[in-house]
Amino acid sequence: MPTMGSGRGQADFNDKTRRLLAQRAAFRCSNPRCGALTIGPGIGSEDVTDTGTAAHIFAAAERGPRGPGGLSDAERSHISNGIWLCASCGRLVDANSGDAFSGSLLRSWKDLHEHRTRLEQGGQSQPFGWVQTLEVVSHYILMPGMLRLSRLNLLFGMNNSGKTKLLHLLRSLSSPHLLMDFPVDLSCAITWFDPELRKALVDVRGRWLEYRVDDRRVALPPRPYRVLSFGPEAYKERFFPLKSPSIQGIAKFLGVDRWTARTVIVNMPALLPDVMSEVAFYGDDVKVSYREGVIGGKELGQVAVWFYALAVFAELQARAEPTILVLDEPFVFLHPAAQRHVLELFESATWTFQVILAEHSLTAYERRHHGWSATVLVPEGERQSRISQEDADLESIGGG
Ligand SMILES: [Zn+2]
Repeated sequence: MPTMGSGRGQADFNDKTRRLLAQRAAFRCSNPRCGALTIGPGIGSEDVTDTGTAAHIFAAAERGPRGPGGLSDAERSHISNGIWLCASCGRLVDANSGDAFSGSLLRSWKDLHEHRTRLEQGGQSQPFGWVQTLEVVSHYILMPGMLRLSRLNLLFGMNNSGKTKLLHLLRSLSSPHLLMDFPVDLSCAITWFDPELRKALVDVRGRWLEYRVDDRRVALPPRPYRVLSFGPEAYKERFFPLKSPSIQGIAKFLGVDRWTARTVIVNMPALLPDVMSEVAFYGDDVKVSYREGVIGGKELGQVAVWFYALAVFAELQARAEPTILVLDEPFVFLHPAAQRHVLELFESATWTFQVILAEHSLTAYERRHHGWSATVLVPEGERQSRISQEDADLESIGGG
């Protein structure tokens, strides 16, 4: 990791990077509330008017808006640190040292815009959806604050930091029983795009629960998205002892019936064309044929197959409804090489679901410049935690 404040220069984008950012954004501003077209005919018959700007998520210069974010010059001039904006949004996000627009917010805008553009270009009838924020208004462990989600999200917190509680809130929006089995007073708000920006509020007071959508009281909970959630119990049971995959095993791991598991398995080669050539069934056993050089070693192959199943399961579900795949402590039992392999799997731009990886250690922190947004739960006082996406907090717990 680079150290702060030493030997950094100006990290501007080159012409190729600027052009790629514009093209990937379809020449539209990536601010979800703007979306302005940034290219059009100029005055002369051969002129083009270009009003877009390749803005930096973390600053090109040491003292620029949002600071260098712990990234090296090469990382800050890389396309992963750029976002395409119209001229006025470009000025807006850099005003007052960029204080009102964090790196994680801009990352989320970029992911959202590219995701939407990809669906539009593909002419897919897939429902567009994207969870933007989870705001804690009041809670017995979590201090008021905002979790801002991109497509790829890392959530760090030690034991008892409220990490599991935060994920529980995310799951609870559409499931009153999750909140009322052990009711505690809390209030949270969730915003999502469908594709318009929507907002839902959940309030629990004693044994009384209220939902509001776009400021109107509703009787039944909204379900703007589906959360597929997996925790340590699932991995422990599956990974050790290492077993060859079976229909029954994958069904149990995913928490679905064997016919659904079979659908997931059958779709694996088509959705992972660079990884798998085919799958075959021998009774209940599943034999996966990997592409040459994809998996280093038999052991990694046997662990990785469970993550391939998770990704394909989430992607199939994302065809029907916006889907968030939540993995709580997925790396506890994994070798570092396997961890990297799993992160790279989710980094593929072909997936349309959102991912949250919750970890208590910082092994995955360096992945930030590969497109992961990082959030940390910072202990405050006796029993409270603060949600933070500030770079200072991330670096103070071991990143930089
Ligand atoms: Zn704009």
